[in-house]
Order: sequence, then C-alpha cells, then structure tokens
Amino acid sequence: MSVKTASTNGKLNETALLSAQEMRSDALLQVQDLKMHFPIRRGFLRRIVNHVKAVDGVNLFIRPGETLGLVGESGCGKTTTGRCIIRAYTPTAGRILYRRSDGSVTDLAPLNGDELRPYHQEIRMIFQDPYSSLNPRMPVMELVGEPMKVNNIASGKELEDRVALLLRRVGLRPEYMKRYPHAFSGGERQRIGIARALALDPRLVLCDEAVSALDVSVRAQILNLLEDLQHEFDLTYLFIAHDLSVVEYICDRVAVMYVGKLVELAATDELYAQPLHPYTEALLSAVPQPDPRVRERKQRIVLEGDVPDPANPPSGCYFHPRCQYSDGKSCVHEEPLLREVYPNRFVACHYAETLTLRGVVA
Ligand code: SF4
Repeated sequence: MSVKTASTNGKLNETALLSAQEMRSDALLQVQDLKMHFPIRRGFLRRIVNHVKAVDGVNLFIRPGETLGLVGESGCGKTTTGRCIIRAYTPTAGRILYRRSDGSVTDLAPLNGDELRPYHQEIRMIFQDPYSSLNPRMPVMELVGEPMKVNNIASGKELEDRVALLLRRVGLRPEYMKRYPHAFSGGERQRIGIARALALDPRLVLCDEAVSALDVSVRAQILNLLEDLQHEFDLTYLFIAHDLSVVEYICDRVAVMYVGKLVELAATDELYAQPLHPYTEALLSAVPQPDPRVRERKQRIVLEGDVPDPANPPSGCYFHPRCQYSDGKSCVHEEPLLREVYPNRFVACHYAETLTLRGVVA
C-alpha cells in the first residue's frame, strides 16, 4: 500500500517513499504535526512582522465510525484545525493522511484545486449557523440538490427524488422543498444543512459547533439525529465544540486544545472521570451538574488571566501562567510534549502521572 501525495507540478502521483505504515492502521484520518500560521503584516510595504500560530503542531487521529470531540475555549484553534482538514485552508506545515475506501492513503495537505475534488465529496462540513451557511435566495430543493448537481450525480426527477429522500431522513417534509431558508426555524435550518452535507454520501463529517446556536431542547433532537445518521450511513464525525456537556453526550473520544496545541486526548468517559491535564480539569469544572448532591460538592476552577495571544505565547508550557500546579521552573522553561502517558491517554503536562485532578463523575 502506498501514500499518494502531490508532486511539485501539482499532479497526483504515487511515491513508494511514503508508506502507509506511517499512518495508524486503525485510522480513517490522521493529522501529523499540523501547523497553520497566519502572517501579521505591518507598515506601508506590508512586511511580515510575526505570525499568529493558530494551529501549532497538532497530532490526532480518527477511527472509522467514531466521533472525536475537539474542544477548547474560543480562539484555541479548533475551528482552524477543522478548516485545514477540509482544506478550506492550506496548512503551513504537517500532513493530513486520509484513508480512502479502497485502502489507499492520501496526504491532503499539499493537494490543490481539482486534486481535492474527490475528497471534498467524502469529507463534508456542518456549520454552526445554518442561516448564514445557507444561501437565503435558494429554495431547499436547490440547497440540498446543488452538490449532487454540480458533481453530476443526479439531475431532473432523480435529483428531486433524492432530495425528498434526504429531507425525509433528516425529519423534514419533502413538500417543503420549494420553500426558502427564512421559512424554517433554527433547528429545521440545521436539518437542511445536515441534508446538504449528506447529499454526496460522505465518509467523514466535520460538525463545527453544529448545535451551539440552538435551544437546549432542539439541540438534543439534532444530537439524536446525528447519532442515528451515523449508524445508518456509517459516518465518522469530528465534533468541534466548546460545550463539554454536549461533547460528553455524543463523543467516543475527546481532544482538548489550548493556544493551538493539543493538551489531552482520551476516551470520553476516562477524560471526564479523571482528567490528566490541569486545563481539562478547569474546563470540566464549568460543566453544569444536574444532580444537586454532586453540584454541592463540585468546585468551579476559575482560571486567572486571559487566553495567551497565539502570536506571542508564553515560554515553556503555554498554560503555566494560569496553572495552579505550575512548579515555576520546568513548567516555565520546558515545553511539555504530547505523550502517551497510559495506553490511549495522551497528555502534554510534565506532571501528568503525579497530579490527582477532579473529573465530573460523582
Ligand atoms: Fe501546569 Fe506545569 Fe502541567 Fe503545564 S506542565 S499544565 S504548567 S503542571
């Protein structure tokens, strides 16, 4: 098996130098040392004076059929990571290894234009705000049918039948296909966005804050729908969110990001019961607890200071200015690398083995 990569003249070729063994055998997608640095330009000549390191060396993998949560505060780089994976951005560095259904592996990072077309069919995105992501001048028929039309998958009556089928599957009445987005509620608009994402029969779907803008009751309905669709269509999800209670509900594993880096990656139940990184502990302390007995015992950790500027991050561990466990020495001077502390538990903290941190399970 070989890894397909782009040659310098832009044509897709195969090279034996990169072997598929470099990708985890159980992964559908594996991101290796991904970086997305945006230049900061100043002055009349618009010279580059610095870079915003929005994503700075992220490593993660997603298994087929699972849901991986990507969480962190606003501005931590989680959405930028997602946009690199769907190749809305060309990453500054790193590899995005994707396993196709025939078993071949492609690095998406260097691909351009037409080379990306087949992957844009297999990797789709559901956005946070269904209203702004749907063209208000297009009726539902066109919104959902457009990807199939553009890719010459269906037209005419067949296209209409397929759209009707998709609408039914996401819980909307096919009779509504002539209506425009403004005629629908927020939850219904998100269902239209989901139908559009599914139109090309994708394998991997990136849900970028897909339920954040919805009311709590509607949110639960959309999460249940996403779960049902995952089983029915054999989908794999990357679920980008800031709300950890939503992530707990839907994700098999969770990756926590802080200032462009991954600080913890673990199975959801393990991470919630026993976090190994102080930042994860602080995020979990803010998760609302429905059980009043647990709520009484729970102490909220209020992080001091602001999230650091990714153009000018702190030395050593980026979290040290806000970390109550910082030793003031190695934490300040040495960057902790993401390492497998226990089987399938990845943490970037010098003291991951010795700290006893609080989770959210009673
Ligand atoms: Fe806190 Fe030090 Fe661990 Fe960073 S390395 S999270 S500062 S204890």
